[in-house]
Amino acid sequence: MSITDLFPPVSPAPDAECCECGTRTSAPVVVRHLVTGSSHGVTLYACPLCAPTLTPGPHPGEVVRKR
Ligand SMILES: [Zn+2]
Repeated sequence: MSITDLFPPVSPAPDAECCECGTRTSAPVVVRHLVTGSSHGVTLYACPLCAPTLTPGPHPGEVVRKR
């Protein structure tokens, strides 16, 4: 057994692009979930700096489909 067996490589943290300032953040905050014509909608993320300035919208699972 080697040291690499004890510490497997960790995948990089998932990151997302901030919908407000456009920078990529490793700590994205879900601010809104848009329902598009396709079956799955689009989730918008914000960086921690922009998140408090944005009005939160429905999150995934909270979206009410219009008839
Ligand atoms: Zn931002």
